[in-house]
Amino acid sequence: MIEFPSAFAKPHPALTDGFCRRISYLRVSVTDRCDFRCTYCMSERVRFLPRKDVLSLEELDRLCSVFVALGVTKLRVTGGEPLVRRDILQFFRAMSRHLDSGALGELTLTTNGSQLARHAAELAACGVRRVNVSLDTLDAARFEGLTRRGRLAPVLEGIGAARAAGLRVKINTVALKGFTEDELFPLVEWCGAEGHDLTFIEIMPFGEDGPEDRIERFWPLTDLRARLARRFTLQPLAQSTGGPARYVRLAETGQKIGLITPLSHNFCEGCNRVRLTCTGELYPCLGQDGTSDLRAVLRATADDRALEQAIRAAIARKPRGHDFDHSCGTADGAMRRGMNHTGG
Ligand code: SAM
Repeated sequence: MIEFPSAFAKPHPALTDGFCRRISYLRVSVTDRCDFRCTYCMSERVRFLPRKDVLSLEELDRLCSVFVALGVTKLRVTGGEPLVRRDILQFFRAMSRHLDSGALGELTLTTNGSQLARHAAELAACGVRRVNVSLDTLDAARFEGLTRRGRLAPVLEGIGAARAAGLRVKINTVALKGFTEDELFPLVEWCGAEGHDLTFIEIMPFGEDGPEDRIERFWPLTDLRARLARRFTLQPLAQSTGGPARYVRLAETGQKIGLITPLSHNFCEGCNRVRLTCTGELYPCLGQDGTSDLRAVLRATADDRALEQAIRAAIARKPRGHDFDHSCGTADGAMRRGMNHTGG
């Protein structure tokens, strides 16, 4: 007899949107809280959500398990800072049963690394194989300035612990004008020496900055790439993950460098991902305003079929592509709500 890897008795037709894109990747924010206040991300005086608004670990388990039953094979846990949520390893342990059953292909997380040293071994034991660590500088004083309250040493220790536990590490660096120019080659060289992958992300228009600040801090990846090309031979790679990253290889070192331009349209036709905030709002598209309140359904009924219907209805409305307003329009508001307050 065939056993189906879910709470459901029968297999379910794949989650497909109105443009025949199959949804297989869920990013789930497990908290709005963070121990850093990175200047490009969070206000220094951010007000966090009342606890009752945030999904409990059991609710997150139930919701994510329905997504897995519907064909999500990649789950990325994010925040806020996911590792500051109390008992978060309980959630990773719960999700590892879907890895064991084969329903989930990958369980991973994006972290600032501050708590990684104490969790790395258990994350590995839960079946996590890769982590993304956000790191914008290797200079301790600049790190403190940019994160407003973070310290570099525990982050480097966390990265070391992750590697020691057998996890692959990818460093994510936001490209900031007047800052990353000085960090570019030290970061590339350090990642090369340590064996970490490295991806640069173009800054997205949210946070407290006004339009002038945003323009001031925006360092286009075309410029970053041109600067890299002065020192290295760049070989474009065809690899695509269905997301906004493009890759180049540095011929001299063999390193693969990712370049993420989140505001571009160039990946929408192959988009396979949706995003869930810690309050249970589903964002079918990063750059569009439409969201669906899955928490209301989750708390109204114990019947997972109602959740399945709500998820399918939300995904059917997934727009064809991004609609960012780079200055301060609607999509900006969507991202404020989606990422800064309830998690990216
Ligand atoms: N706390 C975790 C971390 O630091 O990785 C997860 C949440 S954080 C919001 C996820 C990623 O978003 C980080 O890599 C961070 O650098 C990036 N990010 C935050 N604000 C951004 C912005 N304005 N533009 C581009 N990326 C941003």
